[in-house]
Amino acid sequence: MKSRTRKIKPTPSAYNYQLLIKHILRTPLIYSPDQEIVYRDVHRYTYKDFAKRVARLANALAGLGVKPGQTVAVMDWDSHRYLECFFAIPMMGAVLHTINIRLTTEQLIYTINHAEDDVILVNREFLPMLEAVKDRFETVKKIVLIADEPGTPETGLALDAEYETLLADSADEYDFPDFDEDSVATTFYTTGTTGLPKGVFFTHRQLVLHTYAILSSYCGFHCQAKLDSADVYMPITPMFHVHAWGVPYLMTMLGAKQVYPGRYEPDKLLELLEKEKVTFSHCVPTILHMLLTSPAAEKTDLSGWKVIIGGAALPRGLAKTAMQRGINVYAGYGMSETCPVLTVANLKPHMLDRDMEKQLDVRCRTGLPVPNSYVEIADPQGNFLPHDGNAAGEVIVRTPWLTQGYVKDPEKSEHLWENGWLHTGDIGFIDTEGYLQITDRLKDVIKTGGEWVSSLELEDIVSRHEAVSEAAVIGIPDEKWGETPMALIVLKEEYKGKVTADEIRDHYAQFVGRGVIPKYGIPKRVEFVDEIAKTSVGKLDKKELRKQYGSK
Ligand code: AMP
Repeated sequence: MKSRTRKIKPTPSAYNYQLLIKHILRTPLIYSPDQEIVYRDVHRYTYKDFAKRVARLANALAGLGVKPGQTVAVMDWDSHRYLECFFAIPMMGAVLHTINIRLTTEQLIYTINHAEDDVILVNREFLPMLEAVKDRFETVKKIVLIADEPGTPETGLALDAEYETLLADSADEYDFPDFDEDSVATTFYTTGTTGLPKGVFFTHRQLVLHTYAILSSYCGFHCQAKLDSADVYMPITPMFHVHAWGVPYLMTMLGAKQVYPGRYEPDKLLELLEKEKVTFSHCVPTILHMLLTSPAAEKTDLSGWKVIIGGAALPRGLAKTAMQRGINVYAGYGMSETCPVLTVANLKPHMLDRDMEKQLDVRCRTGLPVPNSYVEIADPQGNFLPHDGNAAGEVIVRTPWLTQGYVKDPEKSEHLWENGWLHTGDIGFIDTEGYLQITDRLKDVIKTGGEWVSSLELEDIVSRHEAVSEAAVIGIPDEKWGETPMALIVLKEEYKGKVTADEIRDHYAQFVGRGVIPKYGIPKRVEFVDEIAKTSVGKLDKKELRKQYGSK
């Protein structure tokens, strides 16, 4: 179709500004060059020094032979060094591969070879993992050690350099080049579904636009939790998990104080929270649950802490416990394929004076689409469904920052992008206020007696029982109904041995009475367990749970 829009030829000398990650780093150096970036109690420095170390890292990598277009992988806990990599590697035109450190050996070597990693920067704690696959490297040329303490670790790997020594020996200025904003900046692998991990990739333009999208969503709307440059940020989502949800880029652009906690240990996280006066974090529900149930939490003042919960549904019981502790908690939604942020559960101004229970209804919703995104629900034929709070279908999305496919996998890429919409594989509805509510993953939904029952809803309901600390609900085979829900429950310490399966079913029955769930939604099997299997990023591992209980 011929475009009728008007185009004016740019002046030949006009600067064709490309949206590159390097531009993000300019603002903090003007607004708050002396603001701090902290790594546990190991290291603290200013943005000014951070920028110099970013330049040193680029010089060091160039010295190791890294060229634009090559891939540099990182295996580290959340650290200031990782943040340096978030900038230096893409800014030099190379691709940052954030390796999931919880992969199995087979997945690890698969992703390293598939991404064609040229250099790997590895924390000494992960040397044994890498050593186990070293004979199978296909493209890796150099390995750089990351360590907090001096000394050469014992390893069968040939280490080419050590991060701090490399930086100390490199110049602190680097002329980061201009290049096409559509150049790939990052890549990583998702293991959410069956089969081999799938690689996703994001360009400079996408990451910059994503940064602006979350800036407007987190900082621009009159809602329950506005962020700004005075916030103190500590991620509790691994930096390998979708760029720590892209927030390090935002908080760096704002020049806010940032605290990187290293390995996640509840006591350390709570100590840093208090000592560094952290005001904003994000994590999966299981991490918040772990923090709230850790003994140290009782002694920690958590009031005023803004926490976005994503990666999985925010159960109402957990949200309520958090709010009772003064935490300003609310949900966000996204996936590896989407950079990640798609929606955030911002309250609208007319909802702000609602009481806690009514606010929880909204805070636990999956959220409102962030600016510049289209979030729709569609039936299996691809028809859009109404936003009436009732009609449920697959969530399909369009934003400027979605992976344009899976690395070297045209078939799965086509499937992901059927009809020009990215298919999330999540099922949900959109209410009349425009809030999305995810009710399930397509593959986790429970089909009982021909009807769909939302496993997330069943988890949410049981989380409201006073004795329940954590819960997962899966569908297990049933001769009569095809499938039937089964609930796995971890009880709070003080209730262990004091609650029966029938009491849990009675709790569910109240929600049947109120028409919230159908009567076959009441789990036939209720099992009390000490712990529930989690995925590599700390979510309930439904695949594993189905394996454990599905065939019984
Ligand atoms: P990942 O690619 O590992 O980040 O997983 C993405 C998936 O996590 C999504 O497709 C959803 O199934 C799930 N998810 C993320 N955020 C939420 C949320 N707020 N509510 C429900 N499910 C979520």
